[in-house]
Amino acid sequence: KKKDPVSISDLKAGVLNGDRSHLAKAITLIESNAEEHYALGQELLQELLPHTGNSFRIGITGVPGAGKSTFIEQFGEMLCEEGLRVAVLAIDPSSSISGGSILGDKTRMEQLSKNPRAFVRPSPTAGTLGGVHRKTNETLLLCEAAGYDLIIIETVGVGQSEVMVRQMVDFFLLLVITGAGDELQGMKKGIMELADVLLVNKADGENKPLAEKTRRELNQILHFLVPATKGWSSKAYTCSALKNEGLKELWDVVRQFEEQTKEQGVFEERRLLQKQEWFQTMLKERILSDFFYHPGIKSSLPRLEDRVRTGDFTTSQAVEELLRQYKQAILDGNRS
Ligand code: GDP
Repeated sequence: KKKDPVSISDLKAGVLNGDRSHLAKAITLIESNAEEHYALGQELLQELLPHTGNSFRIGITGVPGAGKSTFIEQFGEMLCEEGLRVAVLAIDPSSSISGGSILGDKTRMEQLSKNPRAFVRPSPTAGTLGGVHRKTNETLLLCEAAGYDLIIIETVGVGQSEVMVRQMVDFFLLLVITGAGDELQGMKKGIMELADVLLVNKADGENKPLAEKTRRELNQILHFLVPATKGWSSKAYTCSALKNEGLKELWDVVRQFEEQTKEQGVFEERRLLQKQEWFQTMLKERILSDFFYHPGIKSSLPRLEDRVRTGDFTTSQAVEELLRQYKQAILDGNRS
């Protein structure tokens, strides 16, 4: 017996109503790798598109153990208390590479998940990094349609996904910790240049002076870097997520950032650029998967690889041959 088909109009109404279970169902549809779900998910997105774009989007990254989930939980709770609705999405690049997960299976941010003003969604697991990118971006749009004021996208700072998250958010926060004193050398300049704020976490107890010292050093380095956002000078601050210190101050900085970038047109400019980048990314992703999943290519590719290896073909010849076959297959497909 056939199961009830998912009703797009029901889902749409539920999401627009801010109903969390409908939102979760809509996200599951978007995340599904089944072809029939893909079409339905896109139909739903299309319907909801006019209701998107109204949140403020924050990206948060930091190495495992930096305190991201502790921070987001406290920060999220604080904002919910202020009357805001907060959605938290996670990206775990390790899940698409190794199939395992750094963020782990444990329920993170348990307290925040229970807050009726909050919505916490773990990282989509299956699929390529490109697939995770699409799913997260589309989930973000669904959350906006559901009326969330603030969307936080968390990623593990292992160098894979920071650029991707930067391309989805208005504000990017890098959570840092002090350690043996050589942490600054290990920190990549490229990641620092993505951040609108560097936040030295765990500035409590005995660690407080060291955190202060790190903050000053980071500020000196930031001085010489290209700012992540036009007209905004990125600075370092300290906080203790555990003791709930410095979070209010950070929120003030975020609001100041929002106000300034909106006033100067930088906010809108970035959003437009992001749409353009997003289109390019999706297009490339789609072309690549069309190509590599094409049955003809799937069978020719290993043979041609062999011939490159044995020296029968130059690399360029093999590439040209594959493209020729692909184009021919498309032409033949159109005729039939
Ligand atoms: P994540 O891997 O970045 O999400 O880090 P977690 O939030 O799981 O935190 C890792 C560890 O650091 C946990 O044991 C936390 O209790 C601890 N931690 C997080 N924030 C702070 C803080 O502000 N001060 C101190 N002392 N410990 C913290």
